[in-house]
Amino acid sequence: MSDLVERLREVVGAAFVLTDPDLRAGYETDWTGRFTGAARCVVRPADTAEVAAVVRACAEAGVPLTVQGGNTGLVGGGVPAGTGDVLLSLTRLTALDDVDPVEAQVTAGAGVTLERLQAHARAAGLDFGVDLAARSAATIGGMVATNAGGIRVLRYGSMREQLTGIEAVLPDGSVVSRLAGLAKDNTGYDLTHLLTGSEGTLAVITRVRVRLVPLPPARAVALVAVDGTEGALSLLAAARSRLAALAALELFYADGLALVRAHGNLSAPFAQEYPVYVVVEAAGATDPTDDLLELLSDCDAVQDATVASDAAGRARLWAYRETHTEAINAAGVPTKLDVCVPLRELPGLVEALPAAVAAAAPEARTIVFGHLGEGNLHVNVLGAGDRAEEVTDAVLKLVADRRGSISSEHGVGRAKARWLGLSRAPQEIAAMRAIKGALDPAGLLNPGVLFP
Ligand SMILES: Cc1cc2nc3c(=O)[nH]c(=O)nc-3n(C[C@H](O)[C@H](O)[C@H](O)COP(=O)(O)OP(=O)(O)OC[C@H]3O[C@@H](n4cnc5c(N)ncnc54)[C@H](O)[C@@H]3O)c2cc1C
Repeated sequence: MSDLVERLREVVGAAFVLTDPDLRAGYETDWTGRFTGAARCVVRPADTAEVAAVVRACAEAGVPLTVQGGNTGLVGGGVPAGTGDVLLSLTRLTALDDVDPVEAQVTAGAGVTLERLQAHARAAGLDFGVDLAARSAATIGGMVATNAGGIRVLRYGSMREQLTGIEAVLPDGSVVSRLAGLAKDNTGYDLTHLLTGSEGTLAVITRVRVRLVPLPPARAVALVAVDGTEGALSLLAAARSRLAALAALELFYADGLALVRAHGNLSAPFAQEYPVYVVVEAAGATDPTDDLLELLSDCDAVQDATVASDAAGRARLWAYRETHTEAINAAGVPTKLDVCVPLRELPGLVEALPAAVAAAAPEARTIVFGHLGEGNLHVNVLGAGDRAEEVTDAVLKLVADRRGSISSEHGVGRAKARWLGLSRAPQEIAAMRAIKGALDPAGLLNPGVLFP
């Protein structure tokens, strides 16, 4: 064993192989605190060549690797399950090329954070199409590996839609690199998209080429109170047909608002409480405030609304939605499920959730919020204790009964591997296993992730 650690030290330098338990600790537990495991060592290569040498050394020693980016993933995919893995951290792969304004593309190292990519694109008068609350720590490599979504999917799609190329190290240590950023390329299997959402089970992503979007100079945000989930859907339908500048539409409920307000010491947004809230953002070349106000005054579902056009006011309204994850985590270790159903099934699902969770864990409470445009709900169960598996089973079965996906955003990871069959047919799982077996016959990359 120490032979492997010595070999890794030769590859990346002794300072970047962490064996001391105190130094490893931050890498070994996930963001929620629910998933934890010990790694043999944490290795932190600086570039693709070093990643390839690390993977080759582990392959030769027959030692599995757990792949990790910013460790903001919420399904335990980036932390080791047992004690034997080498934990491969990609956070030193921070090279960021100049923005190409003609292609409106840029190449970023896997360890570049979303926040840094956004700042880099904005300095060049462009923007990146995916945004999410973990932006200061989530890495571009991790976001590709999970096909991350977030608050702008409604307008620009998930990570998959942003990608024009990828560089990755395969489990045998060989490197595939397609970073020309071609707008059209029909030469066989699309490896870029195959690796997107593969959760570190097929290859280690080292660099990506992404497209950038226009940076709208004008924005307006509304926090809207509606009388129920059906009302939120009516607002979505109205916004889709009438608000050309629609950029985001997010959903949360009264219990989530109470938690967020207590956590962040935030004032009440309205003089009275409402059951359901929606954040609507519009962004465009000209100020969309009037269009947003017109939409709100014409939509019968709207009970109350407050609108902000200045940066501070917009941030204040977004905070009610964006601090949900943080506030929930501060209240305890949550069982987190990210699910998606056809929009018309959403009200029924929200209504059925409390009873299903109570049957599995009577003491638990459920906080729900989500990305309304995609029917994507984050179901957070606090106080499930040792009933987390039963809660997961109950919620995911409700979702499957409604033709939904058991993972609409965070991936399957270790948390939901057992339930993959609820969303994927046996033939699909067999095809996925065949791909895994072809690229990683020894099962070295992220064992226990995605497949049960
Ligand atoms: C406050 C908060 C808000 C969030 N909001 C959203 C949201 O709106 N939408 C959303 O989609 N997610 C959200 N997430 C989840 C998380 O931020 C995303 O899943 C993100 O993509 C993870 O990136 P990461 O760099 O932290 O990856 P990690 O957590 O380190 O890893 C995630 C998975 O990707 C694999 N992986 C990481 N890097 C690589 C690589 N270079 N090559 C191959 N595999 C790799 C890991 O093995 C693991 O399976 C949120 C998380 C938090 C804490």
